Amino acid sequence: MIFLGTGASEAIPNPFCECEVCRKALASDDPREKRGRSAFSIDEQNLIDFGPDVINAAGRFGLSMAHLRNLFYTHFHSDHCDFVNWENPRMSVTPPPHFRVFLSEPALTGVKVFRDLILSYPSKDYERDIRFYEQTMEFIPVRLYEPFTVDDMTVSAVRGIHSGRFVNEIVLNYLFERNGRHFLYAADTGPYNEENYEFLKGKTLDILVTECSFGKSAPEKNHQTCDSIIQMVDRFRKDGVVSDRTEIWLTHIGHKGGLNHTELQQKMREMVGPQISVAYDGLRLAAF
Ligand SMILES: [Zn+2]
Ligand SMILES: [Zn+2]
Ligand SMILES: [Zn+2]
Repeated sequence: MIFLGTGASEAIPNPFCECEVCRKALASDDPREKRGRSAFSIDEQNLIDFGPDVINAAGRFGLSMAHLRNLFYTHFHSDHCDFVNWENPRMSVTPPPHFRVFLSEPALTGVKVFRDLILSYPSKDYERDIRFYEQTMEFIPVRLYEPFTVDDMTVSAVRGIHSGRFVNEIVLNYLFERNGRHFLYAADTGPYNEENYEFLKGKTLDILVTECSFGKSAPEKNHQTCDSIIQMVDRFRKDGVVSDRTEIWLTHIGHKGGLNHTELQQKMREMVGPQISVAYDGLRLAAF
């Protein structure tokens, strides 16, 4: 598994920003301080999100997408979905993969409206391209809390507490189960609601990846801060979702959090213990 990107929507450094985090990251030689927009590779067949830095990250970190089977979109904010990426399979010399695209029902409506807008634009190539996308990508809407089978995994969507890009878009966090192991990918989200906690109760995670967009900032409804993550982990421990053996990784790190890689990791380890770590672009985890 590879963290293809671990930054929030503005990336770190945001070259337009002169905040302390961005200034230090810009001048830093430490590759962990340079964060592209978030995405995650479970393996060569399974990808979470397809934002603007994924194509470049795949090259840098040695990930082939020639046999991609499943793309799990969390939501369609521009850091998680860059429609320009949809061009890349079309530009393959070898036959491109045919892959399933999982997304929420309102997001599918939004994607279709977006496509129709593009089609109505007076460009000679778009209709041909859209036909290609339809042949390459099979869109499958997902319902919250209803497990479904994807190849050798059981997948469930829980609600990301986050307002998406499209009207009424439901944001998806994903619970993946394979060979008795459980992995929750929780981006983007603010503090979880009771429905999520009830659904996850007793499902002990081997790996928890959660976003940390706002670090030491004041509480946020749409994103996690250090404090809200500490509260989430406490609740997960009570519910048997996090055990002492659960690896906890932070991703989707934002400059507004005010902490660089080392500072954020130190702060969170003091509060949560050694099982929590801050991810960085290109970090690999053992196969799930
Ligand atoms: Zn995001
Ligand atoms: Zn900044
Ligand atoms: Zn978002």
